[in-house]
Amino acid sequence: MAGYKATQTITLWKQHQCVACASHYRYLFTRSLTGQGGTAEKAQEALTQTIQKALESDVDFQPCPNCGTYQPDMTAQRERSRLFWHFLLTPIVGTILIIMGAAGGVRPDTMVWVTTAFAALMAAWLYLLESRNPNADLRANQNTAQKAINAGKLVLDQAQAGYEPGRTNHGGISPTVLGALALAVIVMPAAKLIRGLGGWPLNPTLHFPVIGPGDTSRLEMESGFQSVKGIWTGDASVQVANPKDLPPGDSRFAASTNKGSWGGTIRVKSSEKNSSRTPYVDITAPNNPALAGKTIELKTKVVATYPKMLGSGYTDSRSTFERAVTVKLAPPGAGATYKTIWGTTLSVGILIITVVGILTWRAVGARSRNTQTRLIPTEQPAASAPPPNLPPAPPAQA
Ligand SMILES: [Zn+2]
Repeated sequence: MAGYKATQTITLWKQHQCVACASHYRYLFTRSLTGQGGTAEKAQEALTQTIQKALESDVDFQPCPNCGTYQPDMTAQRERSRLFWHFLLTPIVGTILIIMGAAGGVRPDTMVWVTTAFAALMAAWLYLLESRNPNADLRANQNTAQKAINAGKLVLDQAQAGYEPGRTNHGGISPTVLGALALAVIVMPAAKLIRGLGGWPLNPTLHFPVIGPGDTSRLEMESGFQSVKGIWTGDASVQVANPKDLPPGDSRFAASTNKGSWGGTIRVKSSEKNSSRTPYVDITAPNNPALAGKTIELKTKVVATYPKMLGSGYTDSRSTFERAVTVKLAPPGAGATYKTIWGTTLSVGILIITVVGILTWRAVGARSRNTQTRLIPTEQPAASAPPPNLPPAPPAQA
């Protein structure tokens, strides 16, 4: 967007009438605000709106010096800004972790724990955020207020004797929400649990690590090559090295790999001239149930052809990669089941925690009530003319 910016720092007193004791108190309210727009006028207009909004609804987190209560608009604003980060982080980091586990590079069975631990952390964050009542210790809040008064940032304008604690509207966390959070975290390692219960063997070198008759799983080679734009095409093969150990029936494994194409001119950015690639073989086990539980020695091979930089142009290059691997087969279809459960439970767990975060954000908004506020310019003498009924110190509250 075109760059016109208008900035202004506002400083004034914001006076609240306490919802619990009806005392009036004020604090120094300072904001550096910015407006942006295509023209200087539009930037100024945007700035004016931003200032208007800040004056109307933005508040600081300052307790009533008289009774120690944080006002409902203050607690709601602080809770909502923290919930916003929760809402932002949960789906973004969660999705990245799931993609990392699904795409390779990191073992999916390791990513189950990493993603579950992350989800547990976000669930705990939400729980702590919602269960903590900022008005639980009014005496401590009064002390906080006294420090702000001593620093000249807070003023008790008019103290009232009454106190009604029920009006501060702290929501807390419901058993349903707590149950949903716990459930989300508990279901996430389901793939590992079901693998353990089924006794499905783990093949850490394969991606995904569970393979049964009829399943396909990926084996990466131990080294790679650099090609223009990462383009390559390959021919893959797989051979069973211990056929005499296998039961009768089909024992032919199938292999496939990447098929790329290029020709003539390849347009590249300089950063793409030498892109690293690791060739792989997608191994499909024969659909023969008798192979379940068998240990099979496989010899795999990929012949990769790819464009390689040569001077200012490229030449087609060819490399051969071989890797031997021992595979222990699970029951038919176990690999596909593991993959489905892995993806579903991790996604559902992250989704539940995200949704609970959004619903909580909405609930906080719904129970937020604006305190009666009044704006007072700083030029106006603040503490110099206290009302006559101001007590010498904030009275102790039960
Ligand atoms: Zn109060």
